[in-house]
Amino acid sequence: MLRLIKYGCVLAVLMVLLGSEIASPRAEAQFVRPVDVVPPDDDIGEGYKTPAVQRPLPREAWWNLVDVASLSAALVLSTWIVLGRRSRYWLVALTVACLAYFGFYRQGCVCPIGAIQNVTLSLADSTYVLPVVVIVFFLLPLVFALLFGRVFCGGVCPLGAIQDLVVLQPVDVPRRWDKRLGILKYVYLVVAIWYAAGALMGIEAPGGREFIICRFDPFVGFFRFTGSAGVLIFGGVLLVLGIFIGRPYCRYLCPYGALLAILSRFAWRGVSITPDKELDCGLCTEACPLGAIEKNRAVLSSCLFCARCFDWCPRDKTNRAQCQEGDVRARAETVES
Ligand code: SF4
Ligand code: SF4
Repeated sequence: MLRLIKYGCVLAVLMVLLGSEIASPRAEAQFVRPVDVVPPDDDIGEGYKTPAVQRPLPREAWWNLVDVASLSAALVLSTWIVLGRRSRYWLVALTVACLAYFGFYRQGCVCPIGAIQNVTLSLADSTYVLPVVVIVFFLLPLVFALLFGRVFCGGVCPLGAIQDLVVLQPVDVPRRWDKRLGILKYVYLVVAIWYAAGALMGIEAPGGREFIICRFDPFVGFFRFTGSAGVLIFGGVLLVLGIFIGRPYCRYLCPYGALLAILSRFAWRGVSITPDKELDCGLCTEACPLGAIEKNRAVLSSCLFCARCFDWCPRDKTNRAQCQEGDVRARAETVES
């Protein structure tokens, strides 16, 4: 385990070094975004309409390095907490910290989910300069997914975090419906790529090129305390729904989650519910609010590294220390009945 974490650290350091390229002139975006102070429409004339002010405001380039270092550290921590420490408690602490930093402080930007569009645009349009920080944010969680599974979803992604904190009364979604709805995120991924590229296989995107993932991001409005009424309502509905259906955006809509699900199938090492011998009592299946356990084993592509199942496993080290044998038997009998 320690060796794997070391590989993760080395990879993260490499990414930070790559991120130091951020301040280079090549990394400058060629678009100047409207910020707090924009020229009034009348100054420009010809019926020009000033675009809406965009957030977050641009910052000094070296702050990007801080973001890359924070992402790298959070990914390594998330991996260690879930696979090494097997602690839901520490994962919640990391989740809250990442929600505060990447969500409310950085206002959800830069984020790997939206980076899908920047990467697509850079492939479709050679004049578009892709900032290095975006490349790093796009790739790093994918590399961790290939190594360990969906570490990013576990304790790092602010969109996942905000949903995870409201999972209070999860109910089981019938497996058939869970799988059917899960297809939506792949469809959304293809549509988002289509719009970001402007055209796919010669078919123009209706209405022209657009970053629809950002436009319809359901939670970024909460992070920025602004946004259109429709999208804020959409986010609110997802959060209310999320009380009963664990992380609905992650499971059914997130296009980056689609990429992570594909890569995590080949993960070198993922969540194993019991630390040693499997008990096959079924307690973990009941504990997982995301429907990610089948035949008492975590499914790599759907396991979001939330660490809830560890708390229920009587074989888990921490749980073994806390559980009376009678409690365990009683829980097992409840599941069997
Ligand atoms: S599925 Fe998407 S929104 Fe959910 S935690 Fe993963 S990357 Fe974030
Ligand atoms: S199997 Fe379920 S409960 Fe366990 S870490 Fe994965 S998503 Fe969470």
